[in-house]
Amino acid sequence: MNMENGVIKQWQMTEIDAKLTLVETEIPELSEYEALVKIAGCGVCHTDISFWHDGVRTKKELPLTLGHEISGTVVSGPKHLIGKNVIVPAVLPCGECDLCKKGRSNICQYQLMPGNDFHGGFASHIKVPFEFLCEIPDFVLKEHPLENLAVIADAISTPYQVIEKSELEAGDLAIIIGVGGVGIYGALIAKIKGAKVLAIDISDKKLALAKENNIHATLNTNGMGIKEVKAKVREIAKELGVPKYGWKIFEFSGTTPGQELGFSLVTFASTLSIVGFTMDKLNVRLSNLMAYDAKLIGTWGCKPELYPDVIDLIGSGKLDISEFVETFPLSQINKVFAGSLKHKYDKRPVMVPDFN
Ligand SMILES: [Zn+2]
Ligand SMILES: [Zn+2]
Repeated sequence: MNMENGVIKQWQMTEIDAKLTLVETEIPELSEYEALVKIAGCGVCHTDISFWHDGVRTKKELPLTLGHEISGTVVSGPKHLIGKNVIVPAVLPCGECDLCKKGRSNICQYQLMPGNDFHGGFASHIKVPFEFLCEIPDFVLKEHPLENLAVIADAISTPYQVIEKSELEAGDLAIIIGVGGVGIYGALIAKIKGAKVLAIDISDKKLALAKENNIHATLNTNGMGIKEVKAKVREIAKELGVPKYGWKIFEFSGTTPGQELGFSLVTFASTLSIVGFTMDKLNVRLSNLMAYDAKLIGTWGCKPELYPDVIDLIGSGKLDISEFVETFPLSQINKVFAGSLKHKYDKRPVMVPDFN
């Protein structure tokens, strides 16, 4: 808003690949389960680009305001939340179904995702169910601007959940394929958990950033064959003093070559976690999983229950985020979408509303 003018402003997707358009709508009415959040920042995720460019269908029909990585301040809704600074989880579960009760709320079949099921965060405000909003303690805000913390909603919480799910232990080798805006957090969190971390990418710039942040080893696989990469990874494992088996491999790049490489690195007692998304298919020998007694897992979002742990990682200073976030005025959204499509950004772009 402009609550004064009685409107909220949103940048909406109207059709595939078309420029997003700015629309003004009346302030929506809230149900007893909803709050209105004034947006401080909303990160641009590859999933937004998949909706916008690749034709991945959104649950709500177009026109739709995209954006599911949101931080902001509650301006209307239940009294106890007004004025609170919050993260809006990218996946809002129902909290009551079987999956929710079994600790799998991130895949709740009644879940709602901002910018997919309903209007999302590339806007001045968002109307959301408030039950799972995650409050940010004030001391965290002393060190971090609220808009930067938007990345908790997806770019950090998603790797956090998958690392938990992979049962990564201290002393394991964690192989992170793709250390862009999400993968870099995967690398850092794996390191905080005590793993030896190898970052793989085809961008020297991203690998340099990983190295600057004390990731144990980096490997640029550009132009290398799979066999060559495998030999090199074995060599690095030896140098790092970790076993030849039980590797925890995380595919963050969402590309076919990345997934191919991830699968080829599966060895005895390995776990390959698929975090990145692509519409493309892969031709692999699944029986390798049987022969290696290995695991292949997927992951979707992060259950809200884990958010306080993630905020704690940042609040305690163990995980620094400032270096991996780049903010842009929301009015530049079309430029940033075009740039994201071309993988132009080494850091996570976060859009900051700039309405007057
Ligand atoms: Zn996302
Ligand atoms: Zn549920």
